[in-house]
Amino acid sequence: MDQHLSPIAPGRSYYQDTVERPRHPRMEGSRKTDVLVVGGGFTGLSAAIHLARAGVDVTLVEAHRFGDGASGRNGGQMGTGQRIWPGEVEALYGFARSKALFDLAEEAKAHLFEFIAANDIDADLRMGQLSVAHKRKYLPEYREQVEILKTRYGYDSVSFMDGDEAGERLGSRRYFGGIRDTGTGHVNPLKLLVGLARVAATSGATLFEETKILSTRREGGRTVAVSEAGEIAAERVLYAVNGYGAGLDKAIDAHVMPIGSFIGATEPLPESAGVLPGGEACDDSRFVVRYFRKSVDNRLLFGGREAYTSEAGDITRHIRKQIAEVYPHLKDVRLTHAWGGSVGITMQRLPFVKTLAPGVTTIGGFSGHGVMLANFAGRLYAERVAGNRDRLAEFEALDIPAFPGGQRLRAPLLFLAMTWFSLRDRL
Ligand SMILES: Cc1cc2nc3c(=O)[nH]c(=O)nc-3n(C[C@H](O)[C@H](O)[C@H](O)COP(=O)(O)OP(=O)(O)OC[C@H]3O[C@@H](n4cnc5c(N)ncnc54)[C@H](O)[C@@H]3O)c2cc1C
Repeated sequence: MDQHLSPIAPGRSYYQDTVERPRHPRMEGSRKTDVLVVGGGFTGLSAAIHLARAGVDVTLVEAHRFGDGASGRNGGQMGTGQRIWPGEVEALYGFARSKALFDLAEEAKAHLFEFIAANDIDADLRMGQLSVAHKRKYLPEYREQVEILKTRYGYDSVSFMDGDEAGERLGSRRYFGGIRDTGTGHVNPLKLLVGLARVAATSGATLFEETKILSTRREGGRTVAVSEAGEIAAERVLYAVNGYGAGLDKAIDAHVMPIGSFIGATEPLPESAGVLPGGEACDDSRFVVRYFRKSVDNRLLFGGREAYTSEAGDITRHIRKQIAEVYPHLKDVRLTHAWGGSVGITMQRLPFVKTLAPGVTTIGGFSGHGVMLANFAGRLYAERVAGNRDRLAEFEALDIPAFPGGQRLRAPLLFLAMTWFSLRDRL
């Protein structure tokens, strides 16, 4: 059993108890590299793999252990498209760009399926996603989204569910209906992450854990990154730090904000509990979204955000309450694990990709939608560096605003906004 606890996120995750996490060395001394990747989540590891495969000399440093960030602790749901509905993307950027972003997300999905299969990663991949309305008034919007996806985006794997169908598929009458998506799935994220680290190492990337970049400076057109162990001089740098990079760069701090999300795992449930009999994952219509699915050993992994302290006991209490709202017969169910992590969100809930200085790029802010997008964004970065196609430009062209409030007020303002939205979800 992996005894390591993440120093940057609360609680011990169910994944840690089911996945063997090999250790990677700490960096010692100073070095040079063509590309330095800072952050060893999906984005960073994927970038490292595809850079190494293209013959680029790449060094990746992770401040803690691989999997301590969001990529090893998340809900594992892949979803379809971007984090917000295509119609919402269209309202911001028009149809052509919205369609291009949708198509990239479909490629991201295909890439992940293919990558898992081609590299023999046992990631517990299972198919099916249910997106459900917690208020009746949202149903017309769900019905409309199915139409939009089919007719305007050419995506046929969705169908509208009325209350009865949703009830049967969920094993709960709590929701009023929604969308069934058979074209996407869910994974054990830590298994995927460990697989990525293995493939990165065998592809020739140099990987270091427990090596934190403290600061960087520019020197003769290069970046010199400073860690406690020594310095790394790099021609190019990718910051793949997502919601955990506070203080590294002002633009990242202003555009990507961490918010806590928490998950509880129940003990294995008997089939007679009737929870999600088809094995799909589920997310609901709350702004502060609730998301749940079953693990391969039949536990309910239930996520949401209501806990405001990082104590595991507090997370357990809140999650059990939320489980009981959906599955009243599970009100006394035992939670074997409760944990949290930081979701890196942006104002538009679309990724933040930016060239911060010549040769210095950041990719992050997947806003709770990074399982497939972060993996793909890493590959797109490698394509750009290797001088192939530049599909990352589609993300970089997005006009993601900074969070309001400046350095001092942006965190309290976001907290107030989240509290307001969570209240609105309940009213
Ligand atoms: C509880 C939870 C549930 C979620 N559920 C889902 C879901 O169901 N579906 C979905 O699509 N997405 C979900 N997400 C979001 C998803 O996990 C992220 O979008 C994705 O993992 C982002 O990957 P990343 O590589 O960009 O960032 P991360 O995985 O967060 O990796 C960033 C890494 O950078 C490292 N780092 C930071 N600063 C430094 C430094 N100075 N030096 C070195 N290293 C540094 C950190 O230690 C961290 O490991 C969830 C997130 C959480 C927390």
